[in-house]
Amino acid sequence: MSIADKLKTVKESLGNCQLVAVSKTKPNEDLIQAYEAGQRALGENKVQELTDKAEALPKDIEWHMIGHLQRNKVKYIAPFVHLIHSVDSVRLLKEINKQGRKIDRVIPVLLQIHIAEEENKYGLDEEELHELLSSEAFNEMNHVDVQGLMGMATFTDDKDKIRREFKSLKKLFDKTAKDYNDEKLNLKELSMGMSGDYEIAIEEGSTMVRIGSKIFGER
Ligand SMILES: *Cc1c(COP(=O)(O)O)cnc(C)c1O
Repeated sequence: MSIADKLKTVKESLGNCQLVAVSKTKPNEDLIQAYEAGQRALGENKVQELTDKAEALPKDIEWHMIGHLQRNKVKYIAPFVHLIHSVDSVRLLKEINKQGRKIDRVIPVLLQIHIAEEENKYGLDEEELHELLSSEAFNEMNHVDVQGLMGMATFTDDKDKIRREFKSLKKLFDKTAKDYNDEKLNLKELSMGMSGDYEIAIEEGSTMVRIGSKIFGER
């Protein structure tokens, strides 16, 4: 199946959920195929690769940064990134706010929450999320727009476990939106679900899935 066909098949199974087509490690020709099939939202996990591709490809592509982001690299994507999914610390959020202020741009972000069992995955826990959102420092950040939460389930064949993890993130999302949404904060996006688990994620309330290999093939 062509990339266009795989994209079509995936999109038909998403309902109202938005699709970020994850193009990391894939060559520009592959991204162009997705673009020509109408896909605008593309996801990358490395700053260098993201900026190289953004430079070379059509300007109306919406670039999503989905991988761990180092503070010293924020400046390279700040002017154009559509959404940063992977904000996993207050220090990173502060840096994004600082770079946004410099160029007079409010940068859209999601806060990454640690829901998986695996220790090596990044993200805030519930308490850190609460601390961040109730802090004076956050209140003073005018150049970030926190639009929601992101999470990755444990890499496992145990579907019940994946479902439990997505359920817990959705619950945290709902509670956080209820407790914190005001004039400054409007949590509305829940980025969860990848090639192997997006059907479960959608059933559990995802608004945005990040799908790579199912569209572009194995990496
Ligand atoms: C690579 C990646 C994906 C997509 O993974 P697939 O299994 O290829 O769909 C989604 N989210 C993040 C954060 C990733 O790094």
